[in-house]
Amino acid sequence: MFDKFHDECGVFAIYGHPEASKLTYLGLYALQHRGQESAGISTSDGETVHTTKSMGLVSDIFTQPVLKQLPGSLAIGHTRYSTAGDTALLNAQPFSVACNKGRIAVAHNGNITNALELRRELESRGAIFQANSDTEVILHLVAHSEERTLAGALRDALLQIEGAFSLVFLAEDQIIVARDPHGFRPLAMGKMELSGGRPCYVFASETCVFDLIDAVYLNDVQPGEMVIVGPTGITRERFAPEQPLAHCVFEHVYFARPDSIVFGRSVQESREMLGCLLAREAPADADIVVPVPDSGVAAALGYASESGLPFRQALIRNHYVGRTFIEPSQAIRDFGVKLKLNPIRHLLEGKRVVLVDDSIVRGTTSRKIVRMVRMAGAREVHLRVSCPPTISPCFYGVDTPTRKELIAANQSVEEIRKFVEADSLSYLSLGALRRAVSDTDANYCYACYTGNYPTELISVDMLMATGR
Ligand code: AMP
Repeated sequence: MFDKFHDECGVFAIYGHPEASKLTYLGLYALQHRGQESAGISTSDGETVHTTKSMGLVSDIFTQPVLKQLPGSLAIGHTRYSTAGDTALLNAQPFSVACNKGRIAVAHNGNITNALELRRELESRGAIFQANSDTEVILHLVAHSEERTLAGALRDALLQIEGAFSLVFLAEDQIIVARDPHGFRPLAMGKMELSGGRPCYVFASETCVFDLIDAVYLNDVQPGEMVIVGPTGITRERFAPEQPLAHCVFEHVYFARPDSIVFGRSVQESREMLGCLLAREAPADADIVVPVPDSGVAAALGYASESGLPFRQALIRNHYVGRTFIEPSQAIRDFGVKLKLNPIRHLLEGKRVVLVDDSIVRGTTSRKIVRMVRMAGAREVHLRVSCPPTISPCFYGVDTPTRKELIAANQSVEEIRKFVEADSLSYLSLGALRRAVSDTDANYCYACYTGNYPTELISVDMLMATGR
């Protein structure tokens, strides 16, 4: 059975490059922030599909000898993050199989909301599952399809799945990518010029990848679109009827890198605007604006420039904190957060501080940081959050805890203020969030802030299985 439904991931694909695996490695390196638990690359040399995947960080897994074992000019890659208990290598992607449609591999960012029903139905017809990830369902649907071509079988499969998916597929001689009709998760398309003028197409969750590998960002794979790149060139087609768009606003609030263009909009620009509108909606009688690094930096810049208060980086982040560390046997208070952040006392002493962060989820980190700032001498701490209260879990690919653990689902803003021990606490309004991402046509999903899910079917099984 599936034991989780909220993979945060990054995907990459490339067609027509003699060093496909190396470029995929670089692509995944730029997407590391979208998942630090496991990473994988599949390549094709025209005859067979090679896959390497492992737990850990991209640069630790893909050494020169490992990359040498991934030959070919076509490749896809994946980085994955998941939480509690579900750290099995079994669920690392790409998934690669040999089936009646040939050798194929798939990597997925998002979350298929009807995966449980589909899996039960497939199992009743004899399908055997190796992992407990929703992505494997897609491979089975492809294998079961009566369509003869891979593209046809994929179309068939994609029409049966619901929810969020930005998918990259690899076959022996083609790359196919697709995006769900609501466009929940991003998927950008770029091009590289190779010697002799041969085109090389690349696809990535975020455009910061293209900057690294010197590719030109062309446009996004459209919601409901499938792009096939093979020996006969490139074709783009709609596989599904149009649906209302539901771009994930949290990509702009927190998840994507600020140097990316996501859903056609600069993430940095959105974040600075979030901070600017936050300053207008929730001014504070204070001396300095301090970001929680790195997630609050851009919003704090916006807040500072709009309020006229000086911006001070008074919390310093250690960027080398790994996933595991040795805790001292004697308890050190707030050890985890101290490992990551350290305050600069001389900037904070005696100051009234506006502390800006992107979001409060459980509230436990915010509380530790507020304490830390106060312990470093701040006279007052005014916490400002650059999005509305997070009241509902995400079913479309962002890792949020259950409703029970979401502090804003269970407590008022005043109760949260008391919990985090701030002198004042304000969140951004939903209207301002909309304005900050320029959502004039209602193209975004705000379910984590409203509880209104843009797709009809949220599987009851899933809600029960995850205790949401
Ligand atoms: P807490 O309120 O203690 O749960 O932690 C909130 C912090 O976690 C914020 O500073 C965010 O930057 C960060 N955060 C929010 N959502 C996520 C997410 N889906 N994955 C990882 N970190 C997140």
